[in-house]
Amino acid sequence: MSELRRNPFTGEWTLCAENRKNRPYEFLHKTEVRSKGHEECPFCGGHEHKTTPPLYQDGQDNCWQIRVFPNMFPAVTKEAKALWENPFYEQITGWGLHEVLVDTPSHEATIDQFSSEQLAQIFHVLQERYCKMMEEKVVKYIQIFKNCGPSAGMSIRHSHWQIMGLPIVPQRVDLMRGHMKEEDCLFCKMIAYEKEQGIRIAGENEEFLAITPYASRFPYELWICPKRHVSSFAYVTEGERKSLSCLLQEILQKVFSLRKDVGYNICLIDGAVKGDFHWHLEILPRIGGFAGFEFATGSYINPILPEQAAAYYCGKA
Ligand SMILES: [Zn+2]
Ligand SMILES: [Zn+2]
Repeated sequence: MSELRRNPFTGEWTLCAENRKNRPYEFLHKTEVRSKGHEECPFCGGHEHKTTPPLYQDGQDNCWQIRVFPNMFPAVTKEAKALWENPFYEQITGWGLHEVLVDTPSHEATIDQFSSEQLAQIFHVLQERYCKMMEEKVVKYIQIFKNCGPSAGMSIRHSHWQIMGLPIVPQRVDLMRGHMKEEDCLFCKMIAYEKEQGIRIAGENEEFLAITPYASRFPYELWICPKRHVSSFAYVTEGERKSLSCLLQEILQKVFSLRKDVGYNICLIDGAVKGDFHWHLEILPRIGGFAGFEFATGSYINPILPEQAAAYYCGKA
């Protein structure tokens, strides 16, 4: 049903998940909506019977704000069986957990409309689920992400997040974590340098710094970085969740204003479970697209200088 296969040349993992081909897709083309509206939506308040039983729900049916349940088309599962084992290649069964967090009962609401209090509550529940997943032996890495808009890979219009506990550490995280030991952290050094330079700062408060990273892959890419070296999202305090929410709320207004129907991903990047890292949020607007060059080389062509992007976010451009 689900299997991770490793490219023997690059070390990258591909998740082969057969059952994902059956999941519903609500969009005909980029922004055109195929479904009639909320009548059939499994994520709407009042439609609780259309999902798997909840793992978390902060109120009665049809009277909640946040609801978490196992993904109905999981890419990894606890019961996964390997498709084909063979001695030549490296593979691992797609064991893991795949949950959905619906962050509003409303079909039309989008995250840029949420208050910072709402966002803080979402991060609180995400953190609770994260900590719960950490206890699962098979889970080596947890990916929290949100796809906003069809151009960013959203398949169901109703606002939601996904939380995936994987049995491997993705190659990108594996490469990054070597530079993020608390005693000598490149990420901490980068924050200090960016503060001193000031030309790639998109927003700031006491606990967080938003930057347009030096080698941004995407036009207007943003990283929201905790100033304190916190090894994992699991250990973020209540004050930090509030502070993060205030900055994110401000920043999302500007991301939303980039252009009509802009798609973007919000990804929480963390290290291996219980390992050291400098966790942060990455916001990846999807303006333009991937083409042959990006797929062939793994490098990106970004037509917007990160310094220009920072000027936009600061209201100077
Ligand atoms: Zn809905
Ligand atoms: Zn650090």
